[in-house]
Amino acid sequence: MSLPLPLLQSLSNVPGFHRETFEAVHASGEQVTSIRLNPEKPIDQGPWTLDNNKISWCSEGRYLSTRPSFTFDPSFHAGAYYVQEASSMFLWHAVKEMLGTDTKKKVLDLCAAPGGKSTLLASCFSDGLVVANEVIKSRAAILVENITKWGSDHVIVTNNDPSHFQSLPGFFDVMVIDAPCSGSGLFRKDPGAIEEWSEDNVQLCSQRQQRILADVLPALNEDGILIYSTCSYSVEEDEAIADWLVSEMNMESRKLNVDPSWGIIETNSPDTNSYGYRFYPDKVKGEGFFMAAFQKKTGVERVRLKEQRLPEPSKQELPILQSFLSVPENFSLFKQGEAIRAIKRVWLADLQVLAKCLYIKKAGIEIGTIKGKDVIPAHELALTSLGRNAFTSIGLTEEQALQYLRRKDLVLSDAPKGWNLVGYGGLPLGWVKVLPNRINNYYPAEWRILKE
Ligand code: SAM
Repeated sequence: MSLPLPLLQSLSNVPGFHRETFEAVHASGEQVTSIRLNPEKPIDQGPWTLDNNKISWCSEGRYLSTRPSFTFDPSFHAGAYYVQEASSMFLWHAVKEMLGTDTKKKVLDLCAAPGGKSTLLASCFSDGLVVANEVIKSRAAILVENITKWGSDHVIVTNNDPSHFQSLPGFFDVMVIDAPCSGSGLFRKDPGAIEEWSEDNVQLCSQRQQRILADVLPALNEDGILIYSTCSYSVEEDEAIADWLVSEMNMESRKLNVDPSWGIIETNSPDTNSYGYRFYPDKVKGEGFFMAAFQKKTGVERVRLKEQRLPEPSKQELPILQSFLSVPENFSLFKQGEAIRAIKRVWLADLQVLAKCLYIKKAGIEIGTIKGKDVIPAHELALTSLGRNAFTSIGLTEEQALQYLRRKDLVLSDAPKGWNLVGYGGLPLGWVKVLPNRINNYYPAEWRILKE
């Protein structure tokens, strides 16, 4: 694997870059596999050998010694863990360092698909509100799937251009911008990307990163935290952006404490001495990554944000739906077309503000739809803890669980009639409806396992 010479030359004076070991680790072809566990969905074990190796900067992160086929692990589909590159889990450490347990915050993950950082943020900010946005429509659908499997009730998925957030001055307390970049940090994982790398693209990415940041920063509150990251080694996309944020956008750099044994390199940007954190695969057990943290120092002009009232279920519908929730008093119910959804009561007013100016793909949790006197429970409900105590749950064997996830017929003796949750290893996978002569499999067709 031959790395682009202009890239290697451009890095020659960058702190932490050692060409010999950097090239050697790329040539080695070594692959690192890591997962992040879902604290809301504990499991005893999966089809892996845990390396007994926690990821130092993320308490939920684990290295695996082999890469199993995640597709054939039912607990993966149940949202028990997310397969995530280890370096990018440094976001966990950054959040914990800067906010500690003060997590009742409004958080924006602007460039969110496929959802690695958003699911991490959902776990960190369990009493906050996380808005996971993705500008590209097809990628927003994947984001919805991953957020749904994670099962958090405090996430809103939107599909907007960064400029649309200008209608929300000072709305967010925390922003994560995991920017689209030239991708050199992933060369070891995806050697095919080497071909696509060019100096011109680095320049284009750098300009686009500034544009994205300039568009979205007005939506960050005074004293709000900005976390900027890329998977590029190029200074133009990393320290130069940090310099621009401090010198042009009135942001203040924030230092993070990093244990020297982690192998992460702290850098200072050339003009403003801003802190940045570099991950090189020859120094950490992970891929190439850059992160920098900032605090907004300028005030935000207070304006009253307009709200869009969301339609509510009727008086007849309300009690039927509330019987589907374990703790109905904590939630507000609203309608989106036919679907009835629930969001934590504390976040309803904020959702109504967001609904006025953004395209919302998913807010809170869909409970179900009412057809006559019958309620069809939504798949989303099965994957949260919201309704878990209100339904019978049938444990499946691994073979039955895979049959269910393929959307094939199931035979379950003695299953009670009506709607039942089916699960694996104590975690729900979805719904079945038990009829007198058959069992209907309600696993979403678009998510079913196609591989045999
Ligand atoms: N944060 C994600 C995660 O952890 O799973 C990965 C994000 S990826 C590095 C960058 C994302 O930015 C992509 O999903 C891409 O579609 C999106 N993107 C591309 N162009 C953009 C733009 N002009 N504005 C905002 N986002 C953009």
